[in-house]
Amino acid sequence: MKAVCWMGKSKIETLNVPDPALLNPHDAILKITKTAICGSDLHLFDGFIPTMEQGDILGHEFMGIVEEVGRDVTNLKRGDRVVVPFTISCGNCLFCRKQLWSLCDNTNPNAHIAETLDGYTPSGLFGYSHMLGGYAGGQAQYVRVPFANVGPLKIESDLPDEKVLFLSDIFPTGYMAAENANIEEGDTVAVWGCGPVGLFAISSAFMLGAARVIAIDRFPERLELARKLGAITVDYSEEDVSVLTALKDLTGGIGPDCAIDAVGMEAHSNDLQYVYDKVKTALFMETDRPGVLRQAIIGVRKGGTLSIPGVYGGLLDKVPFGAAMNKGLTMKMGQTHMQKYMKPLLERIEKGQIDPTFLISHRITLDEAPEMYKIWRDKKDKVTKIVIDPWAEKKAA
Ligand SMILES: [Zn+2]
Ligand SMILES: [Zn+2]
Repeated sequence: MKAVCWMGKSKIETLNVPDPALLNPHDAILKITKTAICGSDLHLFDGFIPTMEQGDILGHEFMGIVEEVGRDVTNLKRGDRVVVPFTISCGNCLFCRKQLWSLCDNTNPNAHIAETLDGYTPSGLFGYSHMLGGYAGGQAQYVRVPFANVGPLKIESDLPDEKVLFLSDIFPTGYMAAENANIEEGDTVAVWGCGPVGLFAISSAFMLGAARVIAIDRFPERLELARKLGAITVDYSEEDVSVLTALKDLTGGIGPDCAIDAVGMEAHSNDLQYVYDKVKTALFMETDRPGVLRQAIIGVRKGGTLSIPGVYGGLLDKVPFGAAMNKGLTMKMGQTHMQKYMKPLLERIEKGQIDPTFLISHRITLDEAPEMYKIWRDKKDKVTKIVIDPWAEKKAA
């Protein structure tokens, strides 16, 4: 089959690789019908995530048709159409039983690496380094899905793939980000980053009762989508724009009730600390550039909540923890507990409350994927979301 493979830092290739096979009785093999490139895949492309190996298949946002099931798979059969969550969960451990699905104790065979760094390991993830399980990803024609009784969500309606594909990650992730922000009726919510997760956080914030959402980014196409969802936008790249001043001005000097950092470790900004972070990460003295996190801690109102769906990988420098303490902030974060959200959010899509296709900017083939990673990373085109049809042939140029 064809698959998009990580071949080294800034090096991705579409290669012919062996088809996956059932390894365990609870596995399923999926023929992938649609898959997507995630903003967090760019962290892999840029070499920010350790323990990637040459030839690893990328991709954690996919759906398809069940091709084959192991003998212990009872919830699925050949021919079922499913969306698969990006986290892998056993369904039986302490954490799964508490609905903390992304913290499953049993799905990361390489737990010892994460335990050395973090104390304990989160769940395994598809296509996201050996530290997180070394599972082959879904930017491919087929994928092996472990614990197939627990993850895949059956789609029984005739909704097109594109409308349900984002239940694999970004819609639940944006929704949990909004839920984690403790939004109360009438609140003002500030969202840093209008990428896919930020955009779904904005629409989810409104669903959860926010009166106003202030969206912060620098790319016109993303700010435009945020405005379409009803947000007030702040373009921090404009001259004379200070995000912190804008947040104060828009909230009568109080600050937003809730802040959502949908950017994570590769934050960009125009200030001096950005240069500092660039230098420190280049020297391996810091692993992440937490510019947004610092700004969100300072910008949110006293007693407010900071929700962090943006991915951080390691050690952060100069995070104003004293401000967080003295302002009495609540902070909530983590990878998404997918199984808790997929079904209710599918119902919202079925009822027409949201059409998740609004952010798709590019539809490509597997062969076009390596070039697209570059285009997105280098901002050479207005990319908001890339969907791959793994069975489409490359169009003649
Ligand atoms: Zn993703
Ligand atoms: Zn578990």
